[in-house]
Amino acid sequence: MGYEQLFCGARTRSGGRCLRYPLEGKRRCKLHGGASTGPRTPEGRDNSLSTLTNGHQQWYERMKERGYLFRGGWPKGMPRCLDRIIAKARELIASRKHERAARKE
Ligand SMILES: [Zn+2]
Repeated sequence: MGYEQLFCGARTRSGGRCLRYPLEGKRRCKLHGGASTGPRTPEGRDNSLSTLTNGHQQWYERMKERGYLFRGGWPKGMPRCLDRIIAKARELIASRKHERAARKE
């Protein structure tokens, strides 16, 4: 990440930002996930990537349904071929799963 954040900054239920200090070397305070180690095994990393990919796809489908995608231009920094990127991520996850299964045998 490279930069130090002064505050945790997580959105609070009252609509503000969390003003606690983040844990050392982290971006969030301990109440907002700063103590989390994240996924620690390759399986865990793939699980979270898979969830992220599903979320992106759902968002993408929703935007397409509502016709938001080409109104007012494409959002800055958003890859244009999201379909392909999602498919690629799925492929990667599936192939790694396959590899791991093969190694266990
Ligand atoms: Zn916080």
